[in-house]
Amino acid sequence: MLPKRSLERKVKLQQLVNKGNFKHNITVMREGKGEIVVGRRCTSKAASDYTACGFCKKFQLKTSLWRHTKFCMARKEYFEKTEESKRIVAVKRGRSLVTNAVFSDTSENDLVSELLQHMRNDDVKTIVMSDQLICREAVLRMAALGSKADEKHDDKYRVSQATRTLGRIVQLPRETTGIPNATLTSLIEPRHFDLMVDVAKKLLTDKETPALNVGRTIGILLTKVSMSKYCLACHLLSSLERRWQ
Ligand SMILES: [Zn+2]
Repeated sequence: MLPKRSLERKVKLQQLVNKGNFKHNITVMREGKGEIVVGRRCTSKAASDYTACGFCKKFQLKTSLWRHTKFCMARKEYFEKTEESKRIVAVKRGRSLVTNAVFSDTSENDLVSELLQHMRNDDVKTIVMSDQLICREAVLRMAALGSKADEKHDDKYRVSQATRTLGRIVQLPRETTGIPNATLTSLIEPRHFDLMVDVAKKLLTDKETPALNVGRTIGILLTKVSMSKYCLACHLLSSLERRWQ
């Protein structure tokens, strides 16, 4: 138990409230009905003028999100633990969190199969196909490519490469560190942090992964995937709730 009236307790409680509101807002946005709950309401604004803070998940006006980030305790805590550049635009981070959570699963299978058709048949592909989180990340990236007309010729190839890198991240611990049933979901748990660092080091000399910036690429991939994991949990929770109603 955190001591009463302590700052830490206050921060944690606020985060809990934000998480609840976030989940509610995502349901509203996905179903297109109801009202979203925001940090500070402004009557003349529409739901689309708001996005979530990528750190504490509180919904803010896009135009004032930058101001919020200056005081966001969750953000402060995050940057105390990491060396990531602070310049990632707040709205960009928030938008990617929200799109990810809202994304419906109607055409997911089509997108995955389209991607897999173009992928070499090997062990990495087998892992990709059976890993829920990798598939989800692949779907989000495919969906982000937009319509066929806007697609550039190597777009799909880049998605394929990123997906295969995630596959390799799961394959290495399976083969070398005696975690035969490793999944991406299990590997991004904090207890596997050192293992992930080792995997990243091994991938540096991997023939298939381009060596340039590979550490950074893996870092970005894993951050995205953690976000997907959180949003997937939101999905599951709300579909369970619907079943109980
Ligand atoms: Zn925040």
